[in-house]
Amino acid sequence: MDSAINYFSMGFDACAIIICAVIMANYYSVRRIHTRTEKLFQALMWTLLASAATNLVYVVLAYVGGISVGLFYFVVMVMVIAVHSVGIVFMLYVVSECYENRAFPKSFVAASVAIIAVTGVSIAIYCFRDLLPEGATDTVILCMFIEHYIALAVAAAYVFINRCVLTARRQVNIFVFIAFNVAATVVQTFTQAQVTAFALAVAVMLIYATLRNPKDEIDGITQLFNYQAFKDFVRLQIASRRSFWLFVTGIRNINAINALWGQGSDEVIKATAARLNDITDKTTYVYRTGEARFAVVFNTREQYEQFYGRYISAISENYLIGSVSVPVDNVAVLICFPDVATKFSDIENILKFYREKISGKDAVIEATREAVESVERREQVDYAIQKAIKQRSFQVCYQPIYDLKNKKFNCCEALVRLKDDELGFIPPDEFIPISEKNGTIVEVGRQVVTEVCKFIMQYKPQDYGVQFIDVNLSVIQCLQPDVIEDIQRILKEYGVPRGMVNLEITETASAKSYALLQQRLNELHSNGFTISLDDFGTGFSSVEFLINFPFDIVKLDRSLVWAYMKTHKYEPILQHYMPMLHSLGTKIVAEGVETEEMVKALDALGCDYLQGYYYSRPLPKEDYVKFLEANNCPRNGGRSLLIS
Ligand code: C2E
Ligand code: CA
Ligand code: CA
Repeated sequence: MDSAINYFSMGFDACAIIICAVIMANYYSVRRIHTRTEKLFQALMWTLLASAATNLVYVVLAYVGGISVGLFYFVVMVMVIAVHSVGIVFMLYVVSECYENRAFPKSFVAASVAIIAVTGVSIAIYCFRDLLPEGATDTVILCMFIEHYIALAVAAAYVFINRCVLTARRQVNIFVFIAFNVAATVVQTFTQAQVTAFALAVAVMLIYATLRNPKDEIDGITQLFNYQAFKDFVRLQIASRRSFWLFVTGIRNINAINALWGQGSDEVIKATAARLNDITDKTTYVYRTGEARFAVVFNTREQYEQFYGRYISAISENYLIGSVSVPVDNVAVLICFPDVATKFSDIENILKFYREKISGKDAVIEATREAVESVERREQVDYAIQKAIKQRSFQVCYQPIYDLKNKKFNCCEALVRLKDDELGFIPPDEFIPISEKNGTIVEVGRQVVTEVCKFIMQYKPQDYGVQFIDVNLSVIQCLQPDVIEDIQRILKEYGVPRGMVNLEITETASAKSYALLQQRLNELHSNGFTISLDDFGTGFSSVEFLINFPFDIVKLDRSLVWAYMKTHKYEPILQHYMPMLHSLGTKIVAEGVETEEMVKALDALGCDYLQGYYYSRPLPKEDYVKFLEANNCPRNGGRSLLIS
């Protein structure tokens, strides 16, 4: 043998061993989750190391000479097995990457069994090469090369077919591995230099660089994959367009557990993670996607159904923190991709949608399209609100309110209207709660007050006998620190006296904001604004609220008014309330007045004002002015609907 080539080969193999050792040292220095893919990557490193090491030993022994034929034979066989396993292990690793969290496809299992069997037979025949006729050894070696390249070709084909589930960098590095292999074979064939192990070690190093970094992807407390890993994985699954079932479960009473047991909540989280891990099979990963939230991905509904039975029995048992048995309440949502959800952001939206709706201990709810559609609609409405704010395109309608004593429409309620180019008319009952949730209500409210002020300045409704206009003030708006300055500034800008605007507020305040709301309303009141309690009788209203807050007017909600008209059960209640409210100095408005019969009954009950479709629907400003001209001006002689 040419000694220069031998030195050369030894050098390449030694470098390959060093590279493998460096990769392995780095790889094993970090705690990992031993998924199938990780195990196959480890197998790839070990076979490559074995192939480089035996290659080196082989070259050294061939160079030194004088060793027993048996030992030499043994080294050669280990080398042949290692070298020819690299292609197969590489193929398995690559396909495993493409089928992360899934079983290998059956066709692939059949193909790999065939490749492994044929390679095994070839290696076995190669063992007895001395017994083979002249020239047959070359054929066996050629067969083994072909088998090796078939394995690489299968890997390449799977990467190509599943390219959307692998990052571009990972795809490139897998192809680099194959290209290096081809190049090394060519070099080795023509120069006899043993460069294959070195070339592949470099290629594996490149693949290693694109592997997930467990430090970024593993949760320190539970040792499960974390949210980042979950996001990457689910995004790739969505891109692959394969259907899958996502099961998200959370510990609903984690805050209570935290408050009662402090650090013990970590124990509960760890125990939940362990229980979920125990009841899932090896190719199904569990992710910790939030403080006390976990996700499991299933490829088929059957897989989920099998899991479900185990899940229910696993979570129903209490947890032990020290010697204390802690009851844990889990809730879960099952989301089918792509039938129900299609994008990653749908997950959070679906969870948000069900958060308030899910009830019952250890409940599991199956998400429907309705959840996604409702959230999508909410997003569209949200966008329409933002657009309307920017374009200042909210309109305000005015619903006349009839004063029974003065027999005049001496006030009205300003009601906002939103018309979107794409969505058409969006009722305030739909967009106001959305606007309250995202905080845009503050600006919407400002624009409504501005519109009302402009209307007052332009049309001077006072001249038609209008004493004030009701403007709805959301509690969210009311809790803003600068609400008073804001309203005052707008009123001042248009020269509108404070008494012209009456603020309506609905009692929905939670106990937390009760004191602040009270303070704000008192401030508004002492600054000259009158205030109405809106929607009285819808559940929240309490006598305490009426006494402690400075209300000038109470508006009986239409549901209460209608109930009063329908059953006599409400009669004693309302008859009891009316004098009490009057004795507190508040005026009473009845809403939802639709018939003459109602007018008479509510008048008899002692209401001061009536509002409803019987008199008029909310009207655009010009129509409202026409209404005032027709009904409030004595020269018109009033109208038949003004019942005395
Ligand atoms: P609300 O404050 O209770 O307003 C009265 C609602 O009852 C109005 O609905 C009105 O059109 C309707 N209504 C009046 N008379 C009758 C009747 O005889 N029969 C029936 N069936 N309905 C009647 P609208 O305009 O759809 O407003 C719904 C809710 O949206 C309002 O309820 C109020 O809570 C909110 N809203 C409207 N405009 C504003 C606003 O500018 N700011 C805020 N924060 N909320 C507003
Ligand atoms: Ca109102
Ligand atoms: Ca109301």
